Amino acid sequence: MGELRSRLDALDARIADAARASGRDPGELTRIVVTKFHPASLVAQLHDLGVRDVGENRQQELTAKREALPSLDGLTWHFIGQAQTKKARAIRAAAAVVHSVDRDRLADALHAADPDGTPLDVLLQVNLTDDPTRGGVRPDGLEDLAVHVAAQCPSLRTRGVMGVAPLDEPPAQAFARLAAASSALRAVVPDAEWISAGMSADFAEAIAAGATHLRIGSAITGPRAVPG
Ligand SMILES: *Cc1c(COP(=O)(O)O)cnc(C)c1O
Repeated sequence: MGELRSRLDALDARIADAARASGRDPGELTRIVVTKFHPASLVAQLHDLGVRDVGENRQQELTAKREALPSLDGLTWHFIGQAQTKKARAIRAAAAVVHSVDRDRLADALHAADPDGTPLDVLLQVNLTDDPTRGGVRPDGLEDLAVHVAAQCPSLRTRGVMGVAPLDEPPAQAFARLAAASSALRAVVPDAEWISAGMSADFAEAIAAGATHLRIGSAITGPRAVPG
């Protein structure tokens, strides 16, 4: 626990430094701790340390951890992984925010899972690579997806964009494209101001490019048992 606290504190200090270096207020950033491949007990420890935003990238693991931890107050679960349409119902039941909406059918399935329920916050994931098998809508398809969600999926609230920087390019360059995508999205949904970007290795570049939501795993949790 002591070690977890020091890694969390050290990371938060680095986030604050990066924010100040970019002339930004650290208080406007949401730091999501990515707990994938770690046990539910780690989420409980993080909660004890004051963490209120956690991220998971697999539906089964998300659902299992939520069920194992019914009583943690004020915890927001973020789903950050590629989502199969057939998992949409389970994802909607377990997550408060879905960062990885990247196609009309997934948006439709998330909406259909609870059309009259509490609105679900979603981010539209933009593929920052040239590889179509990676998650995310192509940048040139983002506006159509946003229009579709706004028109057809009233139980989803589009909050912004999400992106993962490719490994074969300086992250600042990829995050600049994500910032451009964010502007394009705001032409369709003016209040969709969130930018979910930045992981353990590239959060400083993401902050410099305007990220509002950081998804940090290994720098806080230590190495994962399984690569992911
Ligand atoms: C695992 C993961 C992260 C966190 O990655 P780290 O390098 O461990 O910080 C962030 N975003 C997504 C989509 C992930 O799958």
